[in-house]
Amino acid sequence: MGELIASEVRYRRLFEAARDGILIVDPLTRRIVDANPFMEEFLGYTHGEFIGKELFEIGLLKDEAASQAAFRELQANGYVRYENLPLQTKDGRSAEVEFVSNLYQEDKQQIIQCNIRDISARRTRENARRETALDLARHAQLLEESVSRRTAELRLSNTQLETFVYSIAHDLRAPLRTMQGFAQLLVQEHMANLNQQGRDYTNYINTAAQTMDHLLGDLLDFSRINQQEIPLVPVALEAVVQSALVACETEIRDGRARIDSVAPWPAVIGHAPTLRQVLVNLIGNAVKFVKGKPPQIRIRTEERPGGIIRLWVEDNGIGIPVESQERIFQVFKRLHTTAYPGTGIGLAIVQKGVERMGGRVGLVSTKDEGSRFWIELPKAPSSTSRPPYGDQTI
Ligand code: ADP
Repeated sequence: MGELIASEVRYRRLFEAARDGILIVDPLTRRIVDANPFMEEFLGYTHGEFIGKELFEIGLLKDEAASQAAFRELQANGYVRYENLPLQTKDGRSAEVEFVSNLYQEDKQQIIQCNIRDISARRTRENARRETALDLARHAQLLEESVSRRTAELRLSNTQLETFVYSIAHDLRAPLRTMQGFAQLLVQEHMANLNQQGRDYTNYINTAAQTMDHLLGDLLDFSRINQQEIPLVPVALEAVVQSALVACETEIRDGRARIDSVAPWPAVIGHAPTLRQVLVNLIGNAVKFVKGKPPQIRIRTEERPGGIIRLWVEDNGIGIPVESQERIFQVFKRLHTTAYPGTGIGLAIVQKGVERMGGRVGLVSTKDEGSRFWIELPKAPSSTSRPPYGDQTI
């Protein structure tokens, strides 16, 4: 008995001190018989004002019908819970509460205990969080839109620039050819009338016109490789390597170069004409940049992890210092401007071409100890490769 009293006292203390509202309701009359101090503080009614009222009268349930429905549910389950119940305090403030109601048997009589928790602050926090998340998503979308707009603008101006370079290079060729033609006529038909100085000048004009013609040709190739469609299909490497060697025949013969092309030749995914041009440029450089000995060039493949084929073009030439290896792929960047002819566009074409085929390019080289250039392309499934140039024999 003493224990019972002690627990009643403890319950009373909890009831008084709770920071949740607690209402005790008589299930027979459905009227409030007790309310804890927090309930008074929360809703603004005095203790006396609570007593004898039904729940809907203090705005806890919408109306009498809602109150009846809640009581039916409570009788059936012994328990009712509403998550977000709107509520008005006595002074008209709106709040939102979590409402839990339990039916208890107490000393042969039933009582209902309703616990009411103010969740307005939590709701405000949740709303703020949701707002922030929405704001963030809106900002992310704006950012994405502005990035794709800028990218589209850049792409457009890039394309316009490329078209511009192409048309300038193309249009400059005609007057250049005229100048070249007349300079040649001067040499052929009026040589006798010119003194040595006159002949020298005419030769300078010819040489400069030739250099400019190469430059314009390379610029046109570079623009084309940027703009043309590059359908990617399985390509038989051996045929493309042979075709590139045929294209470099004159340089190879004149330079007395030795070429080792070493099997195997797996098929890759690429674009045969682009790949051929890439190889022509790499082989051309390998033959060109040698000093004091016949060029020795090795072309071979290596299978890398992840289904990648690396094709090597290795030479015994003058090499490239490590610090210059990145910039030689830029347009017009040349390390040896006077000793070797060239325009400085060959490697830019190599890089762009390989990039457009979805591959990578690189090199290993030390000054005076030869260079080993490589390109990487995906390996083609073995049965699908087909001749790159139709029926043409190379
Ligand atoms: P170009 O050959 O017309 O000068 P590239 O773009 O093909 O232009 O090459 C850029 C520069 O890179 C060359 O001028 C040269 O200095 C260097 N280079 C390219 N290939 C080799 C090589 N195999 N050996 C040594 N240097 C090379």
